[in-house]
Amino acid sequence: MRTHYCATLRATDLEQTVTLCGWVDRRRDHGGVIFIDLRDRSGVVQIVSDPERTPDSYSDAEKLRNEYVVRITGRVSARPTDSLNPKLPTGEIEIYADCIELLNAVHQQLPFQVASSDSETVREDLRLKYRYLDLRRDRMARNLQLRHAVVKAMRRFLEDQEQFIEVETPILTRSTPEGARDYLVPSRVNPGEWYALPQSPQLFKQLLMVAGCDRYYQIARCFRDEDLRADRQPEFTQLDMEMSFMSQEEILALNEALICHIFKTVKGVDLPRPFPRLTYAEAMDRYGCDRPDTRFGLELVEVSDILKDCGFKVFSSAVKSGGMIKVLPIPGGDQISNMRIKPGGDLFTEATIAGAKGIAYIRVREGGEIDTIGAIKDNLTPEQKAALLAKTGAEPGTLLLFGAGDTATVNKSLDRLRQVVGAQLGMIDPDQVNLLWVTDFPMFEYNADEKRLEALHHPFTAPHPEDLADLTTARAQAYDVIYNGIEIGGGSLRIYQREVQEKVFSTIGLSDEEAREKFGFLLNAFDYGTPPHGGIAYGLDRLVMLLAGEDSIRDVIAFPKTQQARSLLTDAPAGVADSQLKELYIASTYDPE
Ligand code: ASP
Repeated sequence: MRTHYCATLRATDLEQTVTLCGWVDRRRDHGGVIFIDLRDRSGVVQIVSDPERTPDSYSDAEKLRNEYVVRITGRVSARPTDSLNPKLPTGEIEIYADCIELLNAVHQQLPFQVASSDSETVREDLRLKYRYLDLRRDRMARNLQLRHAVVKAMRRFLEDQEQFIEVETPILTRSTPEGARDYLVPSRVNPGEWYALPQSPQLFKQLLMVAGCDRYYQIARCFRDEDLRADRQPEFTQLDMEMSFMSQEEILALNEALICHIFKTVKGVDLPRPFPRLTYAEAMDRYGCDRPDTRFGLELVEVSDILKDCGFKVFSSAVKSGGMIKVLPIPGGDQISNMRIKPGGDLFTEATIAGAKGIAYIRVREGGEIDTIGAIKDNLTPEQKAALLAKTGAEPGTLLLFGAGDTATVNKSLDRLRQVVGAQLGMIDPDQVNLLWVTDFPMFEYNADEKRLEALHHPFTAPHPEDLADLTTARAQAYDVIYNGIEIGGGSLRIYQREVQEKVFSTIGLSDEEAREKFGFLLNAFDYGTPPHGGIAYGLDRLVMLLAGEDSIRDVIAFPKTQQARSLLTDAPAGVADSQLKELYIASTYDPE
């Protein structure tokens, strides 16, 4: 039907007769000359029709409207010098249309403008409802192509350079504990029993290692029934990998090479290697969070030892009750007014969202004088003051913001403040790319609601060999990869010995019986010669979002759901016929009242 894609034509094609297919991006009638921007997947090219030069197509050109589907045959011509368009790859040429064939018209009013030149913002619910139109738009079409380019780069690297093979794992399966709720699917042929959709292919990829597969990857769909806070999707995509007989160092090196390959291929950027590393403990200490944005400084400083006995009760009692005192020193913090730190101020609010009761502060003046509330000023000895200024490296003009209380709250609130202040003081270069490994996570964290330890990564993660004596406080051989403060992937070396796996299950409160019931197949497999193995999974949607410079993963997924987990396009989820429920032995207890 056609000879070329629209946007591939250049001045080197002059005088050729070409046939193009696509959509009318825009039609302009310049009194006797009609210009059509014809668009296909590749982009746009300008078509010209007028009664003198193209008498056969003029009356058809007059009838065209935006988004009509057409097939056009014409001659590639040079544009007059005054209408060259350097912004378009096809901006030096235009096509004289000898024949315009209308393949399909638009029969309803378009819900929004699709034209490439149109940058008007459209309500997201409309975009999602008419996603097929939204995806025609330049920005979304580019995002889909970028996503494809990223996946292609992954495949090329893993398959062609590193001997990985892609293996599909089941979608109808048993639940794996990745920390979210499962999507369940009733089994008609096994009444009363349920499949779970995979939260990740974790157990299958480990079994593939037992099977001798050696290097596995999959572009894997994962399902997690989470309360859709922030930017989550009920189904999302991972680049999932697992490999045998590799040390943690070897796994990290291979993954650095993979990430560098992706950046080089899709962005043309050479990332420096090796990536910097922080242990979990260092990250928490210096940044108050396990995925720090290291594009800017503003590191936290713990001052518990200096102030634990000071007369200001908020400080001393924090340490006495097992917590800590930490400072966020802000050079040039004079720009930040007291109003912002006190109740009602934006920084105060940030800190309280994180659970803090307020923010204590000290302003450092010339000659080491300090400016703060009386309760602090009157209760610091000269030695404490001097030690505080020395440890925090405070200079005149520095603002010290304090967190005092339980460790988790202090870290959380200062982390928030650090990020807000860093962004506001213009300390973040948006073009900088910082990749970072965070390693040595704790194996477990305490779940206060369930009054038990739970695995921080997942219960198949191997403990650090030095920490086997007491698993409850052990570090894990786990690692996350962080991109400008956002976690894009995480993985671990796995347990491959039955006794260790059983010990971990019992540490998280699974009885032997429950462990056998849920994970017997894994424990059994460990008895049949399981190689040491480890892996990682990347959140593909998030990675592509960051590479595309988008703010939401919905903008890099072809058919995403809303925050309420609905598809506005198909209107899923939806009710089903009673007969369908009946054959599944299901009755709904939902009462809308
Ligand atoms: N299955 C893990 C996850 O989804 C990743 C891994 O450990 O490889 O987070």
